[in-house]
Amino acid sequence: VTTIEEVCAAGLCTQCGTCAALCPTATVSASWNVRDGYIMSVDKRRCTDCGLCVEVCPGPGCDFTADAWWRAENEGAPSTDFLGPWRRLFTGWATDERTRYLGASGGFATAIVQGALEAGVIDAALLCDSDPERPLRARPIVARTADEVAACRGSKYNAVATNLMLREVLDRPGRYALVGLPCHIQGFRQARERSRRLRERVVFTTGIFCGWTATPRATLVEALRAGLDPAHLARVSYRGPGWPGCLRFETQDGTVREAAFPAYFYRLVRSYTLPRCRLCPDGLAELADISVGDAWLPQYHGTPGASDLIVRTPIGERLVERIAGEWLTLFPSTPDEILRSQSETKREKRSLYRGRLRLRALSGRSVPENPGITSHPDPADTWAGVRDLLREVHRSLEALRFPPRA
Ligand SMILES: Cc1cc2nc3c(=O)[nH]c(=O)nc-3n(C[C@H](O)[C@H](O)[C@H](O)COP(=O)(O)OP(=O)(O)OC[C@H]3O[C@@H](n4cnc5c(N)ncnc54)[C@H](O)[C@@H]3O)c2cc1C
Repeated sequence: VTTIEEVCAAGLCTQCGTCAALCPTATVSASWNVRDGYIMSVDKRRCTDCGLCVEVCPGPGCDFTADAWWRAENEGAPSTDFLGPWRRLFTGWATDERTRYLGASGGFATAIVQGALEAGVIDAALLCDSDPERPLRARPIVARTADEVAACRGSKYNAVATNLMLREVLDRPGRYALVGLPCHIQGFRQARERSRRLRERVVFTTGIFCGWTATPRATLVEALRAGLDPAHLARVSYRGPGWPGCLRFETQDGTVREAAFPAYFYRLVRSYTLPRCRLCPDGLAELADISVGDAWLPQYHGTPGASDLIVRTPIGERLVERIAGEWLTLFPSTPDEILRSQSETKREKRSLYRGRLRLRALSGRSVPENPGITSHPDPADTWAGVRDLLREVHRSLEALRFPPRA
């Protein structure tokens, strides 16, 4: 694929927003609708054909080989398949009890940004919240205060073009952090290679572990299933309070409906996963300075929340050393333990990835290229891919019962 339009037409857009933020002539723009999420479009009359949008796009794939361009940042750190490069591994939670309790898992993502703000490491962070005007929309924002950071806590299983905010980074001097899914971090890293301003201004990245994300329609359908009129929604949250928390809808008249995690999650994401998510092998945000995810381990069941923390770069290591004392409760972990906590995501990003890639290639559609990660499926992978496809077809048919409105 050689243009953003081709990336989108091939179903390879991650909806990260990097292309629109970086376009020097504002030719690429993003719009949002409840069926598809963020849609990138190109105004051909203004396009100078510079090619930057495609150069920074993570959709066509990423190099994961041992000597990939981005690995210089990791300065000889060990690297394991799926775990990626790492310098220090921890499990734990935000020391502030409220941040831990209200966060998606252990509140690390929020505590790290708040700690960096208070220590003067950054002036602002690129995050996402739920749009108060349109609660089905997850909205990218630049948070400048601890309260604004806190308002972004919780996972949104809903695509959000966080990297659109890189435009503000380019336009407004300051020191920023980026918190995003693996695709946001990949897009950002490719953009940073091409922009001195981004190299100077974005001082660290936190990657959020990710199995898949979904279009907003997934949330809309869950609201309909709960018997609510989506037009009357006032608030939506997907995780927390406590761990693992629940999907919670609140309407303008105060009606509340909740569905427990993970039961709703599989329904939500399976029918409406972004097509590109199904072809992504980067579960743990390998290109980030720090990665965080749920510590799905038996010893943490019944606690208010626990997270994995992978420190990947010297930047990440210095930051964690600086803020840990006050902000983070950390216990050393091991590659085995982190991998055990991510067995489901690993299955998704390896066996199912290979199976889906094979099926997609057989159907003649373009597939992302991720050198360094084997794409050759064994028969079990192909069978897993077929079963997965059948499940998705079944769920999509089931979802047809819900009219596409709001
Ligand atoms: C779509 C999605 C899929 C995930 N899949 C897995 C998985 O397979 N395995 C696993 O262990 N963990 C997964 N996670 C991560 C997990 O749900 C928690 O987000 C993570 O453990 C961080 O929790 P926390 O308590 O530290 O974050 P919090 O302190 O609650 O902060 C959450 C941060 O994540 C950011 N964020 C929320 N939603 C999005 C989004 N859609 N896009 C970009 N940024 C977002 C917010 O800006 C906020 O800064 C997923 C998260 C998302 C959003």
